[in-house]
Amino acid sequence: MPSYHVWTVGCQMNVADSQTLDLSLERMGLDREEKIENADVVIVNTCVVRQSAEDTANGLLGRLGKRKLNDSGQFIAVMGCMVGPDQTDLKRRFPYVDVWARPQEFQPIVETVGARTGLSTEGCLANLTPQQPDIATFVPIVHGCDKFCTFCIIPYRRGREMSRPVPELVDEITRLTDRGVKEVTLLGQNVDSYGHDLRPRVDLADLMERIHDVSGLERIRFLTSHPNDMSRRIIRAIADLPKVCENVNLPFQAGDDRVLADMRRGYTRSQFIDRVDEIRDTIPGVTLTTDLIVGFPGETEAEFERSFQVLEQVRFDKVHSAAYSERKGTYASRKMPDTVSRDEKKRRLHAVDDVQAQVQSEINADLVGQEFDILIDGETRGRLRGRTRGDKLVYVAGGGPALGDTVRIGITGASPWSLEGDLRATQTQKELVST
Ligand code: SF4
Repeated sequence: MPSYHVWTVGCQMNVADSQTLDLSLERMGLDREEKIENADVVIVNTCVVRQSAEDTANGLLGRLGKRKLNDSGQFIAVMGCMVGPDQTDLKRRFPYVDVWARPQEFQPIVETVGARTGLSTEGCLANLTPQQPDIATFVPIVHGCDKFCTFCIIPYRRGREMSRPVPELVDEITRLTDRGVKEVTLLGQNVDSYGHDLRPRVDLADLMERIHDVSGLERIRFLTSHPNDMSRRIIRAIADLPKVCENVNLPFQAGDDRVLADMRRGYTRSQFIDRVDEIRDTIPGVTLTTDLIVGFPGETEAEFERSFQVLEQVRFDKVHSAAYSERKGTYASRKMPDTVSRDEKKRRLHAVDDVQAQVQSEINADLVGQEFDILIDGETRGRLRGRTRGDKLVYVAGGGPALGDTVRIGITGASPWSLEGDLRATQTQKELVST
C-alpha cells in the first residue's frame, strides 16, 4: 500500500486540519509513514502568520523539490495558510508541487491522491472521527475570522467566519468521548464569535451548555477569545458550568492606545483591563494567558513601555510574545512602514520574555503546597504528564495512574514553565461531576 506523511506547522487549527486529513488518507487505505523522506504521499500543512513558520515551510518544500527532481517520485500536496486564492506565484516557485489546497480544502487533495494511487475515495471525507483519538482533542467550531486586524493574514487565507451547527458538534464530541476522549478544546480564531452566523442565532455559552451534557466528557476548553466578543453571558457560562475549565486566552497585542488603534483591535488599554477585571471577578481561580506583539510599525519606546506595564499589572499565567513581521497582503504591509529595526524588536522581545519568566516563576512558586486535579494526557521521559483546569503543565512522580485518569496532585516543585507533583488520589467520574 502507498504510504503518507502529514507535516504540520502553526496553530491548533492547523493541527486539527492535519488530523482530519490524516484520517481521510488512512480511510482511503494508505499507510502512515513516520519519516517524511520515505513517504509516497507528503502533505505540507503550512502557516504564514509569522515569517519563521513561512521560512520553515519554504525550506522543507525546497528540500522535497530537490529530491523530487532527483526522481524521488513523491506526490507533494501543500495545504494551509500559505495557499491564497491566487496561486500563480506559488506554482512558479514550486513547480513540483502536485496539488495546492486552501485551509480545510481536503477534497482536492483526497481526490488527486485517489486518482494517482487508484484507491477509492468514497466515504473518505464523511464523519471523520479518529478510531483512537488523544485523551485531549481539538474540535474546530468556527472557521475564519471577520476582524481584519491590520497585521493579520488569517482573514485573507481562512476566509470569513463560518460556524459549525450545534447538533453536528454535539454528535462529533459524543463520538469522540465514546472513543475515550475526556477533554475537548473548542477552537476558533475568535471562538467568542461562534454562532452569530447560524439561524437560529446561538453563542458560545449555548454551545458549552449543550456539550456539557455529553456523558464521559470531563473537561471543556476554548481558544482563542477576543476582548470585544467575550460577553458577560460567556463569562458567566465559564463560571457556572462545572466541566468548563477556568482558563482564558485573551490576547491584548499592545498596551498603547495609538498602537491598538493602528492594529484595529477595537478596544483601548483600559477597556482590555476592565474585561480582565470582569473575568477575574466572575470566575474564581481563573488563569489568564495572552498574545503580545512587539515592534509594530511606529511603536516608540514609550509605547512599548505601556505593553510592559500591562504585563506587570495583569500578571498573566503565560504570554505568547512575537516580534512584528510584515505579512504581504495585509493592511499594515500596504500602509504602515515597518520602522522598528530587527535588533530593537529582538531587544523588546527579550525584555518581555524576561519579565514574564519572573512573573510566571512567582505565580507558580505560590502553587507549591496546594492540591489540584490533573487529567493525565501523556508521558515524557518516564514521567506522567497532565494539566490542571487552569492549564498548568504538571509532571507526576512515580507510577499508578493511567492515561485518561483524573488524579489529585500535591504540588511539590515549580519552574516558570511547569509544575511537579505527587499523587494524592484518583477521582471517579461521579466525583468529578459533583466537584
Ligand atoms: S482576531 Fe485579528 S489577530 Fe485574531 S485571527 Fe482575527 S484578524 Fe487575526
